[in-house]
Amino acid sequence: MKAIVVKPGQPNSIHMREMPDPQMSDDHVKVRMLRVGLCGTDAEINHGLYGKPPDGEEFLILGHENFGVVADVGRNVTGFAPGDFVVSTVRRPCGECPNCATGENDMCSSGKYQERGIMKRHGFMAEYYVEAPVFLHKVPKEVEALGVLLEPMSVVEKGIDHAFLLQRRLVWEPKLAVVLGGGPVGLLAAAVLRARGQRTVVFGREPASDVRAQIAMQLGAEYVSVEASPLLDLPKHIGSPDIVIEATGNAKVVFDAMEILAPNGVLCLLSVTGGSGTNVEPIDRINQLLVLGNQVVFGSVNANPRHFAKGVEDFVTIQKNWPGALSRLLTNRIPWQDFNTWFTQRGSGIKTTLEIGS
Ligand code: BGC
Repeated sequence: MKAIVVKPGQPNSIHMREMPDPQMSDDHVKVRMLRVGLCGTDAEINHGLYGKPPDGEEFLILGHENFGVVADVGRNVTGFAPGDFVVSTVRRPCGECPNCATGENDMCSSGKYQERGIMKRHGFMAEYYVEAPVFLHKVPKEVEALGVLLEPMSVVEKGIDHAFLLQRRLVWEPKLAVVLGGGPVGLLAAAVLRARGQRTVVFGREPASDVRAQIAMQLGAEYVSVEASPLLDLPKHIGSPDIVIEATGNAKVVFDAMEILAPNGVLCLLSVTGGSGTNVEPIDRINQLLVLGNQVVFGSVNANPRHFAKGVEDFVTIQKNWPGALSRLLTNRIPWQDFNTWFTQRGSGIKTTLEIGS
């Protein structure tokens, strides 16, 4: 079958080539790919900064934000039928840590997990993949158009779920949520917070006339551009946030975010940043604020199956409350043969998808 592959570690190695068809068994589901979403992780892998091929192989089939349709179902599989729309989870258990042993492989503690399209497992930029049903999630027809956003949505759901779990340590009645970054993850986070009835302000790089700001407002959130206020001044305009979701992809922002939190607040970090940048930070002030304010800062990556399930549920709610808002994230749909246009130029859209099948 045709697939888009990289040679991990080698910059700009991305290309299309024939790869072996995935092998079906009685316990597996065969999925025909419809589209994949592109994200910064894919770019980093193609830059040679991240990712590994499966053991003993030279190439890695790229792609982890996936959406496909069931093509065939093994004899022992129940609950799936040809024609079902499905999204696969990304991470696979390490086989040795207690979290992976109980299905919490997004919290793997050995670091020896595998991730489809990223770490030692082939991904989804291919005509087909084969997977065990336990890793698949059905997407109902009514939110089919949003299916390709389910993987990033699951990352957001986990971050917000864990923020609320952490805050069970106190009596917490959050009045204000701030999302840093108006990219796909930031806007999905704003949508989830709005679905929970939270006053939400998206803080972004783009001017207030940008489509990102319009989507935020369509979701009932407010939008503040860095052009109108530097991040450190934001509390003067809107108050101090009880919850901050950081999704800018810029590590410098993380430390500023620690300075705007309300007492007892929680800051969730979602940006996976590569590189080796350094910076001078006001460490005494930040530490004092964190300690005297009983604040929590935590990182969150990947997601558990229950976050995929919650993502589907929230897609339905969000679609009902603010019809069409999330579809506006899907700005650039390109035939998958044209993958290079994104990997070489990136462009100005919000989310680019590679259209593999129809
Ligand atoms: C993916 C996650 C993955 C993480 C780290 C992100 O882009 O969405 O599923 O765990 O990269 O590899």
